[in-house]
Amino acid sequence: MSTQVQIQMATQAGASANARVTHQSNSVVQNVEESNVEESFPFSEEILPTDTDEPPKHRWRILIADDDEEVHSATAFALRAVKIDGSALELLHAHSAQEAQSILQTQADIAVIMLDVVMETPHAGLSLVKTIRQDLELRSMRIILRTGQPGYAPELEVIRNFDINDYRTKSELTHTRLITTLTAAIRAYSQLEQIEANNRGLSEVVRSSNNLFRLRSAREFARSALESLGKLLCVVPQGLVCVEQRNHQEIVDTDLHVLHGVGRFGVMVGSILEKAADVEIQRAVRRCVASKTIVFDGNAFTMWLGHGSHDVVIYFDVERPLQDIERRLLEVFATNLAVGFENVDLFERLDFFAFFDPLTRLPNRSRFLADVDQDLFSRQGGSRCLAIADIVRFSDINDALGHRCGDTLLIGVSKRLRAATGTGVSMARISGDSFGIFGPENAIDLAAIRRAFEAPFFVHGHALAVQVRLGVVRVADSKGSAVELLRNANLALNQARQSGGGASNFFTRSLSEDVQNRVALLHSLRAAIDFRRGLAVHYQPQVDARTGRLIGVEALLRWRNDYGEMISPDRFIPLAERTGMINELGLWAMEVALDRLATWHGQGHRDLRMSINISPVQFRAEDFVDKVRHIVKLCDASLRHITFEITESVGLEDHDLLASHLTALHAMGIKFAIDDFGTGFSSLSQLTRLPADILKIDRAFVSTITDGPGDRAVAATVVMLAQSRQLGVVAEGVETAEQMQILLELGCDQMQGYYFGHPMSPDQFDAWLLERPKGSGELPIS
Ligand code: C2E
Ligand code: CA
Ligand code: CA
Repeated sequence: MSTQVQIQMATQAGASANARVTHQSNSVVQNVEESNVEESFPFSEEILPTDTDEPPKHRWRILIADDDEEVHSATAFALRAVKIDGSALELLHAHSAQEAQSILQTQADIAVIMLDVVMETPHAGLSLVKTIRQDLELRSMRIILRTGQPGYAPELEVIRNFDINDYRTKSELTHTRLITTLTAAIRAYSQLEQIEANNRGLSEVVRSSNNLFRLRSAREFARSALESLGKLLCVVPQGLVCVEQRNHQEIVDTDLHVLHGVGRFGVMVGSILEKAADVEIQRAVRRCVASKTIVFDGNAFTMWLGHGSHDVVIYFDVERPLQDIERRLLEVFATNLAVGFENVDLFERLDFFAFFDPLTRLPNRSRFLADVDQDLFSRQGGSRCLAIADIVRFSDINDALGHRCGDTLLIGVSKRLRAATGTGVSMARISGDSFGIFGPENAIDLAAIRRAFEAPFFVHGHALAVQVRLGVVRVADSKGSAVELLRNANLALNQARQSGGGASNFFTRSLSEDVQNRVALLHSLRAAIDFRRGLAVHYQPQVDARTGRLIGVEALLRWRNDYGEMISPDRFIPLAERTGMINELGLWAMEVALDRLATWHGQGHRDLRMSINISPVQFRAEDFVDKVRHIVKLCDASLRHITFEITESVGLEDHDLLASHLTALHAMGIKFAIDDFGTGFSSLSQLTRLPADILKIDRAFVSTITDGPGDRAVAATVVMLAQSRQLGVVAEGVETAEQMQILLELGCDQMQGYYFGHPMSPDQFDAWLLERPKGSGELPIS
């Protein structure tokens, strides 16, 4: 060692003498004794006063790795008040390559290492160089190799390969030299760092942008954007994203809402910016909205990410001044973010329309089902229920007052439903005029909901009394998925609908069995009609009880299903009517019956009449008369001998069409019997409208006829009515001689019932005809 340096360091109170890190700005008092000081470390004569006012800001960190303690001291002394490009130095000390490596592994931002070549081993320094560049990948850090003995000089190759800044013998590094070398190294480091930061930043921008483009929700996007900004600037993110709250059709207000916030802005999420943020931030955001660019303001910046007139602003506090390169990167990033946000917004809107009802802003049916399924899946059992609330006669209101009124009413109804239900309840608009409600049973109180609709709705100047009808299913009473719950609630609702008004009904298992049976029945009826399978027409005699003469037959449909069960017409006819299948079925029965009539006529029963039941539904078909005409012709039937049995409810049908049908059929010579007369609501008034030829006294009035004089009243009245209008009268369901007797006394001669004969197949009927004693009515067939 040519250099003899003795430095006594008196550090500031609290700092230890062998502190590895020495701040050159600390006050240092030194006593230097050395032989060759001028040569090696020529200090300026005066001991420079330390600049204690300098705020402990940015420092260049320099690691001195040398096994010679004196080198540490001398270097420290030499650099004690040195500033390079405005920043002081911070020295870190290592006494072996090993120690240096562990410092490098734990300390960041070391600009330069002054590295002794020979330490614990002759090549310890050189192998550390390798570690620095290859293993630790510290590429910007500058390396100044120092050696005491020139003989240990590394090969040029090492210097080239490992990007070594400088190689000096210790004696070469005089004071001035040391500082110039260090300055050059630090500047190189700084430039390399800038380039590195630039690259890191750009790749962060690219990476973040790519990630952001994958996001689908604005909230998620906002969160990621703030996170990415933090990463880009290497700071803990402190910022917020605010957006203009808007309806998906129109801007409802121009308040900026905080969509997301991180750091100290986290508490503002969901609030209005004007209410949550301090004036300075508001002002910055407003300025950004006005300029529609990125605005740098002290340590913070605001970034406009909107599109069109839709404002989205990021406010981000970096809490330190931004470097030029960072500003440029942020400008690039802002463009990417804006595009990303526009995409997200688009997706959200698509999502919104796919899963929400734009009018009430409630989830739609699909979303509702998904939410309910989610709930069913996540919780086992539990006392929850699903209700469907249906607005009674909503379409009438819609038709009468217009769609705008209807829309307003729907919004009103959704609000009242929401207010009437408890917490934890999810609501959706599941169809035009019905809402789905799902939640804990105790939060869905039917009485509370009903009460909520007691007051009228005021809609565009109309006071509307609105009722809701509810179908409810308890999760415990149902099984399966949301779809099934909804279906069962619907069953309950249909049941409620039958009760009329704002009734409500709970789903029960029997209800679902009923429906399942009905559905099964419907399917097999459809097949029966399509393939004419198991269907037949039976005939029940109608007689003149006074003479016993057979006057006609009533055609009655019979159906035996695939399992061999007889299904009563009282079950399948209403079903066929509801589904419209009755049109086909009725015409088919008519064709069979008229064909049979023609046969019997051909066999000599010349006066036999055929009564055919026609459903009110059949009269709704425009071409009904044409169809009848066609069948009559096809069967070569005698029009004079045909009676159509219609019920009074036919009178409730569309009047013009009905009148024209009835008139046309009547003109053809077909007669009309009013079936089940007396059971309808407005018998007499209907009677004047319908061109009736015959009244049929319903079985209900016949069966009680023997109970006492009072119970004959209806039958007697019908007979009188018929007589006064010169109409024929037929009593149905006559089962006993006594009933027959009384009817005869009342003046009703024509009768039908088990007493005379059951409905029979054509073969049975032929047998019945043969067996029948001439002139006798008493031939009941069992
Ligand atoms: P409906 O027109 O009132 O037919 C008379 C019903 O009374 C028939 O029932 C018949 O079997 C039954 N009946 C006859 N005499 C007696 C009796 O002495 N005692 C009792 N208890 N019942 C008696 P059915 O055949 O079960 O038909 C039921 C209903 O189905 C019919 O009532 C009719 O409304 C409808 N229907 C039957 N066939 C057809 C058809 O081809 N077309 C249409 N549209 N409806 C039909
Ligand atoms: Ca009938
Ligand atoms: Ca009847």
